[in-house]
Amino acid sequence: MKRFERRVAIVTGSSNGIGRAIAVLLAQDGASVVVTGRDEMALKETLTECVNAGVNSERILIVQGDITKDEFRKKLVNDTLNSFGKLDILVNNAGALDKDNCGKGPGFQNQDIDSYDYIMALNLRSIVSLLYLCLPHLESTKGDVVNISSIGGLQGAMPNFPFYSTSKAALCQLTRSLAYEYIPKGVRFNTVCPGLVATKILQKQGLPEELSRKLEHSMEQNPMNIPGGFVGTPEDIANVVAFLADRKTSRYIIGSTIVVDGGSHIVMPLVTGNFHDHM
Ligand code: NDP
Repeated sequence: MKRFERRVAIVTGSSNGIGRAIAVLLAQDGASVVVTGRDEMALKETLTECVNAGVNSERILIVQGDITKDEFRKKLVNDTLNSFGKLDILVNNAGALDKDNCGKGPGFQNQDIDSYDYIMALNLRSIVSLLYLCLPHLESTKGDVVNISSIGGLQGAMPNFPFYSTSKAALCQLTRSLAYEYIPKGVRFNTVCPGLVATKILQKQGLPEELSRKLEHSMEQNPMNIPGGFVGTPEDIANVVAFLADRKTSRYIIGSTIVVDGGSHIVMPLVTGNFHDHM
């Protein structure tokens, strides 16, 4: 029997990038998966990838819409229950650095309160609100929640996108608080914090694909950025999410923040810089 057989998962932001890889892996491993995002073509590509991976298309439900909208979140949960009858796994993955192509550029001085409102609405409020809708169903299945935060939400400064990093730090803390409250009710929460992963996240901010790939290449050349020496793939994150969504393999992990970043978060510039040259 496959590890997620007879389980039902919602993966938000699964029209692309990390969410798509999570949806494909969960479906490949037996789950019925609700694939969601705004981009119709990209949602169909996720379905195609699932089918190419051997998944029966009847186990994939596409629900298209904007996760920041109240009505859409209700539709997402209702459509899931109407199609599959229950919910076992919720992966809160949809997120962005700022509004798509907003053209404001990085840094607090370039961004404004509209960016703040949008980022908090997408990266945090939509998750809180979706949880209110999903938790009664997750309680009845003794389900699992995996929230996708970022190393930008850890202790280091992220001056380019301060609202993004604030939203992700809050998500880590929300996960811990809810993990404590909900484990007695049978629902398990954990967070995954990816480091740099090759997706379209930077392109959505207007960076051409070629420059995105150039930036990734330059990051992986410098061990002070990524000690592992390579940029992560969406599948690197999906493997960890699947591990955390599987109660059999990870039941003793509750409210944890698992960092998946090729070692970026352990770098201490004071030490990796010229320190040794002066010893
Ligand atoms: P992508 O831009 O490739 O994917 C983002 C996903 O979120 C898309 O499926 C997009 O769907 C969805 N999404 C964005 N806005 C909305 C919205 N308003 N309503 C519904 N869906 C929405 O980015 P990644 O795959 O890289 O990012 C996935 C998660 O991983 C994010 O939470 C991100 O913060 C996090 N992360 C990514 C890192 C990286 O280096 N890539 C590093 C650390 C964390 P659509 O466009 O169809 O609406």
